[in-house]
Order: sequence, then C-alpha cells, then structure tokens
Amino acid sequence: MHAPSIEILIEQFAQLPGIGRKSAERIAFYILGTMSEADVEKMSSLILSSKKKISFCPECQNLTDTVPCPICSSQKRDRSVICVVETPKDVAAIEKTNEYKGLYHVLHGALSPIDGITPEDIKIKELLVRLTNEVKEVIMATNPTVSGTATAVYIQKLLQPMGVKVTRIAHGIPVGGDLEYADDVTLIKALEGRREM
Ligand code: ZN
Repeated sequence: MHAPSIEILIEQFAQLPGIGRKSAERIAFYILGTMSEADVEKMSSLILSSKKKISFCPECQNLTDTVPCPICSSQKRDRSVICVVETPKDVAAIEKTNEYKGLYHVLHGALSPIDGITPEDIKIKELLVRLTNEVKEVIMATNPTVSGTATAVYIQKLLQPMGVKVTRIAHGIPVGGDLEYADDVTLIKALEGRREM
C-alpha cells in the first residue's frame, strides 16, 4: 500500500500504547512529509539520549535519571510509609497533589494470569527487600481494577507474616478506573480514607 520505508515506520508506531494504525499513519506522514530532516534528527537523538539516561531507581523502581531518584534521596520524605503503585504515571499523579510525603514503590504492572503476568513479571521481590524495621505501613494504591485488586491482595498476603501494616486506598476512584486519570481531590480522599487490609 505504502512505500516500504513508510510502511516500516507505520508498523513501528502502531506498536506503541494507544496508537492505532490510523494514528501511526498520521505520525509517519507528518515525520516524513512535514518535518525537516534536522528536526527529525533532533527528535530521534533526543529519544535515544533520554532512553540512555533513564534507568529504574534501585530502591523504588521508578524511572529516573539520577540514582537513587529524587524522592528516595530526599531527606524530607517519611521513610516509614511506602505507597505501592502500578506505573510511574501513578507516582506523578499522587505527587501532583502535594499531600503525600512518604516513599513509593512502582510495580510496573499488575498481576493478570490471563495475560500471563505472574508475580515474577512485576517488581514484587524488589518491594520485599525494602521492608526493613523502618517501614511501618505499606499503602496498596494499585488501580481498582480486577488485576489491580488481585495484586493488592497478593502482596498483602505476602506482607502479613512480616508484621507490617498494609492498607488499601479508599474507593472513590471509579471501579475499573485508572489512578492516573483521577483528579487531585479524589486522589487525596482515596489516600486519606485508606483502610487496613
Ligand atoms: Zn526511587
């Protein structure tokens, strides 16, 4: 249908999350038809240099370009609380509220047997090694979806024998909804209204 070099690009973009074939075509034609070669060069080298600078924070597993990340290395954070979320976008959403002062742990996904996502595929082991005596509470702030809830319950069961208090954020975030799309007030209320699991 298209020249092979165009088709290759469309197929690449269509693999990105939320980008269907039509959007992929639009982006490919914009890059190839509208953008200057200098701008394309700048964009591709930016993508590559960002990718090279970013790594997982060895503590919270969030994406960062400093090690450890600014939150884990901050003296102002309450190190007795860890808020467990699915994605780096959830950290950004909670940080935006300016209310939460504890630490985070990013799982990079949620358990979903149907999709073949098992405990080994998300950052659960990395959470367990962080549970020193200093940690008094772990807040499960995974999404109120089937997989987010299953993940919260699974981790709660793992942590129970370790004597750490595990809480779950309150409802208010629509069931099946994503944390990252919740407004600030809803997020603050969900965190404040958390209950022991
Ligand atoms: Zn960190």
